[in-house]
Amino acid sequence: MDLPVKSQRLAALDDAFHAMFEKSRTETPPSLEVRLERLARLRAVISDNEARFEQAISADFGHRSATETLIAEVLFLLSEIKHAAKHLKKWMAPQRVATAMQFLPAKNRLIPQALGVVGIIAPWNYPLQLTLAPAVGAIAAGNRVMIKPSELTPRFAALLKELIAAKFAADELIVTGVEEEIARAFAALPFDHLVFTGSTRVGRLVAEAAGRNLTPVTLELGGKSPAIVHRSASLDEAAERIAYGKLLNAGQTCIAPDYAFVPEESVQAFAEKVRTDMRRMFGTEPANKDYTSIISDRHYARLEGLVADAAARGARILQPAKPDDPNWKARRKFPPTLVVGATPDMAIMQEEIFGPALPVLAYRDAKEPIDYINRHDRPLALYWFGRDSAARDEVLARTISGGVTVNDCLFHFTQINQPMGGVGASGSGVYHGEWGFRTFSKLKPVFYRSALNRLADLYPPYGAKIARLEKLMRFMS
Ligand code: NAD
Repeated sequence: MDLPVKSQRLAALDDAFHAMFEKSRTETPPSLEVRLERLARLRAVISDNEARFEQAISADFGHRSATETLIAEVLFLLSEIKHAAKHLKKWMAPQRVATAMQFLPAKNRLIPQALGVVGIIAPWNYPLQLTLAPAVGAIAAGNRVMIKPSELTPRFAALLKELIAAKFAADELIVTGVEEEIARAFAALPFDHLVFTGSTRVGRLVAEAAGRNLTPVTLELGGKSPAIVHRSASLDEAAERIAYGKLLNAGQTCIAPDYAFVPEESVQAFAEKVRTDMRRMFGTEPANKDYTSIISDRHYARLEGLVADAAARGARILQPAKPDDPNWKARRKFPPTLVVGATPDMAIMQEEIFGPALPVLAYRDAKEPIDYINRHDRPLALYWFGRDSAARDEVLARTISGGVTVNDCLFHFTQINQPMGGVGASGSGVYHGEWGFRTFSKLKPVFYRSALNRLADLYPPYGAKIARLEKLMRFMS
């Protein structure tokens, strides 16, 4: 009897997982050479197909800036792979760990070991980077990897699947389908580790599904990342850098500055400067090739709704065109928008915007932004602008976020030696560079007993030997 298509897809997913799982339990973990060769193949998948990836992603978005695909996806990944390949030998080496004196002359080592099978669930906003950057860490750590791309980037997903299948055995690295039933079944597979990048809402569902298998999860989620402009800041610098951080990928960036807190006396001047910078960088025409489209009609309508609600509640809206202008809407290009005089009751302040609209909130006292941030979910990123180091350090000490860039936006994310990850509602766990290698490894502590030590003194019958040991341990502690 033929199974319905849906059941066939689920059965194929199950088979693919079990084939990988079986290999991970029966074969010796891959050597340094095998891992390096897999990374080289992954690099070839990317660099031999840059133009095809750029076109597929652009077709999925409606339009995606080719330069942004190059910088934020292709070059980012190539440098992740290069860094991993360069340092892998050192990362894989057992690490010495000190041994307490009473156990000497024994030794301790921490041995990094492949976990087995790693699952990756990715969003649509940087589809190439967010499918493959976790895969780089997982492969470097010696794992087999399954990737589930987003259903909102189907052309990209089909291309990635085809290219990976041509270069990798199905039990090394595989890309699954994107359908909804696959997403749910994928999260329920008993992976050795699962990486989920996406919304906080779906992150909860994924964590629940993984929890049933006791599968550890890295949750790379979103949220509202604030930018604070301190009175000591250069308004020109802050405006330009926030304008760029907001409009990269048309605001569809997890670490984009979501909203800006600005001293009340500078709100108008700041908003005008941001508007001028946005025009200078991305023009005022929807055909501008550097300006990316919104991923779907649903997201476009959601952004229209957020801005309309803010206007109805008294915010001043600055835009080069109305979002319902057919020239913009037909291309799903949402006009860069400033929401001046935004207040916390507005819908735009209650959900992650994930689009090119910047609410500007006024503050009087420098403590107000800190209090506001601390009364809301922990942000994925925080941006602080200013020259007053005491004020900066107070914000750093009193707020918690996934990461911080001081006097710019986004760039903490691009530091390959720094961990990437959220906190609380913006996620848990980290990856990138060596942090990814560690996340996808079991760091196994091994104690090597020496023939010479006194550990046998612990065995019964207890008596005078224990008293000697006790004396030594009390002396040591
Ligand atoms: P999403 O949560 O809607 O979808 C993410 C992925 O989850 C998709 O592949 C989807 O098919 C899958 N999915 C949906 N339902 C599922 C279920 N029940 N079980 C398992 N998987 C399921 O997110 P999105 O709209 O694709 O991405 C936007 C969000 O991602 C934003 O909140 C953004 O901030 C966040 N994000 C975070 C990072 C980061 O590094 N922290 C990076 C990029 C995006």
